[in-house]
Amino acid sequence: MAFWDKHAETLPRDKLEELQVKRLKDTVARCRKSIFYRNRLKDVDESQFSKPEDVSRLPFTTKNNLRMNYDFGLVTVPRDEIVRMHSSSGTTGKATVIFHSRTDIETWADLVARCIVMTGAGKADVFQNIISYGMFTGGLGLHYGAEKVGMLTIPSGVGNTKRQIQLMQDFNTTVFHATPSYILYVSEVMVQEGFDPREFDLRIGFVGAEPHSEQTRQRIEDIYDIDAFNSYGMSELNGPGVAFECEEKNGMHLWEDQYLLEVVDPDNGEVLAPGEEGELVVTTLGREAMPLLRYRTGDLARIVDDGEKCSCGRTHVRISRIKGRCDDMLIVRGVNLYPSQIEDVLMSFPEVATTYQIILEREGSLDSLIVRVELYPKMFDGDLRKLRELESDIVKSIQDEIVVRPRIEFQEPGSLPRSEGKAVRVVDMRGEM
Ligand code: ADP
Ligand code: ZN
Repeated sequence: MAFWDKHAETLPRDKLEELQVKRLKDTVARCRKSIFYRNRLKDVDESQFSKPEDVSRLPFTTKNNLRMNYDFGLVTVPRDEIVRMHSSSGTTGKATVIFHSRTDIETWADLVARCIVMTGAGKADVFQNIISYGMFTGGLGLHYGAEKVGMLTIPSGVGNTKRQIQLMQDFNTTVFHATPSYILYVSEVMVQEGFDPREFDLRIGFVGAEPHSEQTRQRIEDIYDIDAFNSYGMSELNGPGVAFECEEKNGMHLWEDQYLLEVVDPDNGEVLAPGEEGELVVTTLGREAMPLLRYRTGDLARIVDDGEKCSCGRTHVRISRIKGRCDDMLIVRGVNLYPSQIEDVLMSFPEVATTYQIILEREGSLDSLIVRVELYPKMFDGDLRKLRELESDIVKSIQDEIVVRPRIEFQEPGSLPRSEGKAVRVVDMRGEM
């Protein structure tokens, strides 16, 4: 079992918590230097903090706070100590900007290096970073971590899919980083071009930046004959390197020496007990240029609370797969559901190809849920009975999962829109009718 920073990664819980309290106090003190936090912390006395849970005495920070204090409102260092700016993708509105000092960039690369080594990847690997570079943090985030580990790093970015495949072939890529939707698309192009995705030298994939189900991970693993590891992060908390799966693939370790985690009820902000599903709230513990207190990530997950220490030896908390953003929740005929629940059902059918779309329409006063599903070409061989059976099996499985009965529309392979970045799965037309 390989470690990048064994000492930090396996710190006994009591030592880890001690470190968290110390860093939390330092972070609060540092925050007072920003225009945004100065007033908000007037009534806080961090010298009284004695345990990590004391973080709940602090006010929350929201994406909207970041937007309203655009551009430098949360910065705590002089301008000439800032060496990099990043931005979120703007999936849910105006993008937010984040600033980093030199130390911040180094710490970030170090956390990413921990993640990479934790999956069994290392110096001897050839790493193709098939994700957007630029302001989006996925590209540079993994890039710096991979170079730190010493991998041969190919900054191929997204797009130009045939070239991606050529690079994999010519340079014997062994590890890639991509969004799950794009890497599934790459496999379709491989097949069109006459390749077998399993015949490349690939052995490990880092997949993240968007919600995906366990079934989708298994799909990716089967198609490429690799191990795929879930990677979670967001620009506000640096980017990738916040939480990542270890070789056990039983939850993502979140680096608690740098991030203090709480899970709260998204409706009222109450802290939930370990194991309950809620919104992840994170306080940065080492950031210099732009520390954040109790940042409301908007992402839903739970702490893996199986009472066991992870057998990889790491002591840092594990979080479950991200179910989606709080605002990804769809209300259909009064029922709350998440697109990831539908994805999970679809991907368990081997006949279903890799792309789907959820359409919501209003028919009279009733919502209708239409799931467009691409099937593998072999399903379009004219056997209508087989298709009808599949349709009713899918309808039943989805209804069992989410209660609402969907209408299924089968599509020819390749007919639904493909994305290079984060996939757009839901088209809600209910407001337009
Ligand atoms: P934006 O919030 O505008 O999309 P980011 O590019 O910073 O900006 O994306 C971070 C968000 O992407 C996270 O808050 C989360 O919703 C999603 N995300 C990142 N990694 C994962 C993952 N492994 N699983 C599910 N969702 C993820
Ligand atoms: Zn582990």
